[in-house]
Amino acid sequence: MISELINDARKIVIKFGSNTLADKNGRINRDYLGEFAKQTQALLNKGKQVVIVSSGAMIAGVGTMDKWARKQDIHYKQALSAVGQVELMEAWRKSFQPLDIHIAQLLLTKDDFSDSIRTLHIRNTLFTLVDEGIVPIINENDSVCVDEIKIGDNDNLAALSAILWSADLVILFSDIDGLYDKNPKEFPDAAHIAEVRNLDEVKASVNLGKANAFGTGGIATKLEAAQRVVSYGIPLIITNGANPRAVDELSKDAQKGTAFLPQ
Ligand code: ADP
Repeated sequence: MISELINDARKIVIKFGSNTLADKNGRINRDYLGEFAKQTQALLNKGKQVVIVSSGAMIAGVGTMDKWARKQDIHYKQALSAVGQVELMEAWRKSFQPLDIHIAQLLLTKDDFSDSIRTLHIRNTLFTLVDEGIVPIINENDSVCVDEIKIGDNDNLAALSAILWSADLVILFSDIDGLYDKNPKEFPDAAHIAEVRNLDEVKASVNLGKANAFGTGGIATKLEAAQRVVSYGIPLIITNGANPRAVDELSKDAQKGTAFLPQ
């Protein structure tokens, strides 16, 4: 099923959680980004279009301004994401540069999705970029948002972006290979769920734990994202992004994931 979803999709949104982008020292894993860029090139060569939603500005920022790492003040946190966003995009740019693929940055906020004029402009910009073979990389504009007016997690940002761009498929790369009936990190007997057609049923029966170290949403925000996109007829896959060739593996059914399918 997952292989069919990948092979049939032309417009794919791929979201990376911070856990996927960080190496074991908590820095941006540049080798990983380089490998993923090659994977994106392979998708583009097959006539597909890719939009990336990338977390990681905070961890990239901490790599540069490590003395700010423990500051809890909101202004420092926003300043840190402003510094980190540059580092993050530099890491992405360097990954795509050897392949002669340009990237573009879009920093969005919740308001951008509720204002029809802004939505139209974002949509046109995305269409123009991908038509020109450029890979747009979206993140939430954390420096201008406070909690009350934030989307708050990139799972939902990926879902909103996918709806806005009329994507065919969303892939959420996480540190977990899909949805389980309970958190497998706490319960070794947790059972993997390969396919979800009725989200309400699943939400009532699945035990949703908390997010881990860098994660902002945990599995709950991934389910919210799935609910958003399937209501627009867009399927969504949650899978482990540890292998930068994960999309290729998924396209051969060589990697597990959970597919959320429109009813
Ligand atoms: P990311 O940074 O990739 O967005 P998160 O840390 O926010 O990832 O969320 C993924 C984590 O959610 C998993 O590592 C897992 O520990 C936790 N989790 C809690 N409940 C579940 C569940 N029922 N199925 C899968 N993962 C779960």
